Amino acid sequence: MVTSPSLLWPVRPKPLTGEALSSWLLRVADSNGLDQRSFKRYLPKVHGTSADLDLIDDEAFFNAIAIRCAIAPENISSLGFARDEGLVFIRNATSHLDWIIPRIQLGTWPEKRHISSQPYCPACLASDVTPYYRKVWRYAFHPICPKHGLLVDHCPNCGHSFSYLALGSATWSRYGIHALRHCTACGTPFTTPQHVTFDTLEQRVLATQSVLMEGLETGWISHDNKSIPIALFLRGLHILAETLLNPDHGNSISNWIAVHHPELPSHEPNCLGEGNLEHQPSPARARLLVLAYWLAQDWPKRWIALIQQTGISATACLPHMNRLPAWMHSEEFEQSRTREQARSHDEVVAAKRLLTHLRGWPANNAELTRFMNTGIAPPLKPRSQPISPEVRQYFSRLQQTTPSNTNSTQKQIDRINQSSVRELYSPAQADEHLNELLEDMDDTETSLPTFKRQQRNQRERS
Ligand SMILES: [Zn+2]
Ligand SMILES: [Zn+2]
Repeated sequence: MVTSPSLLWPVRPKPLTGEALSSWLLRVADSNGLDQRSFKRYLPKVHGTSADLDLIDDEAFFNAIAIRCAIAPENISSLGFARDEGLVFIRNATSHLDWIIPRIQLGTWPEKRHISSQPYCPACLASDVTPYYRKVWRYAFHPICPKHGLLVDHCPNCGHSFSYLALGSATWSRYGIHALRHCTACGTPFTTPQHVTFDTLEQRVLATQSVLMEGLETGWISHDNKSIPIALFLRGLHILAETLLNPDHGNSISNWIAVHHPELPSHEPNCLGEGNLEHQPSPARARLLVLAYWLAQDWPKRWIALIQQTGISATACLPHMNRLPAWMHSEEFEQSRTREQARSHDEVVAAKRLLTHLRGWPANNAELTRFMNTGIAPPLKPRSQPISPEVRQYFSRLQQTTPSNTNSTQKQIDRINQSSVRELYSPAQADEHLNELLEDMDDTETSLPTFKRQQRNQRERS
């Protein structure tokens, strides 16, 4: 590319392999003796927001930089995420992008926005001749460095967040090129570990990540003997990862996978966070990636087994059918959903009666679905029957007196479950309890609405 010498910046370092746009621009600024703030004055005005340099998608911006650095504009735009739109993520009304780890997070007043810590590999930075930030570290499906293991999200020494770019009125000395060499909070330099061994989880994560990265390179992924465009595969995988983060069912799903498939990395309680996948620390993302990818294999067989055995409603877990990519729609999958939705009213009522008879207590919807799918009566759980502290005390007294035979204890508990409310509450409290329970129950039983109405009327009269 031919540029008039008067337009060129004096020093023009070339982008390094896999370097992120923001990292390269910072190095260009530094080579020309400028910090991030002063360099901003020389940068062309960006159409849209420029708070996150890697997300800039403005041709005029890339062209202007290209002229000043004598580099083809397409070699500059590929450093950021502009070319990933439609492939990795789809822009929507919110600022959240699937699979891209945000650099800036919304906070609360007075700090409306703050810089989030970026995942990084200290060992890679330590072994770089010129330390630079890799673009792939910001992909949520890239939680591991193939050479050094899981990426870290904070300084391993002091836990301070990692970022080389400042935002707004931040402490500027904390940011800049030196932040790629050592922690700017405690000063500990990044180092390379002497021995690197990958545990089972890391090996699996790396294998999954490699498949996805290769797919990104070629545009296609070979999955269950089919070739699927990587964009569609990533979308489906993201939806599966979201179900694992579902506050109602996420833990049940990952527990089921762990129980049925112990060869997968063991599930530690609370290792999966809440909220967006992109906000999770690298170890949680690694685990989510492995579990979601495992569920996607042999689609939809594992998924169907999961919903049948756990009783989790497939419609509740994957509510937006139109969001599912084509490869997830198969006859088998549609049938499993239709079966769930198309149970006759009589079938549901009969199952509900039978389960109530077996357990002596009405079931909630999840328990009923599980019973209809598996034929196994789920055990009574505190959640399905609210138990007061008095009843709990009574249970613990009972268990202390008869610790030897768990079977008979269970039977006694079940019997007490049925009669405890009457025995331990005054008649007025028992009525209240019954009313609450009726309100919580669903109306699949035809007689229930009438019964509820009668109860309400009675309450009003009294
Ligand atoms: Zn590394
Ligand atoms: Zn530190």
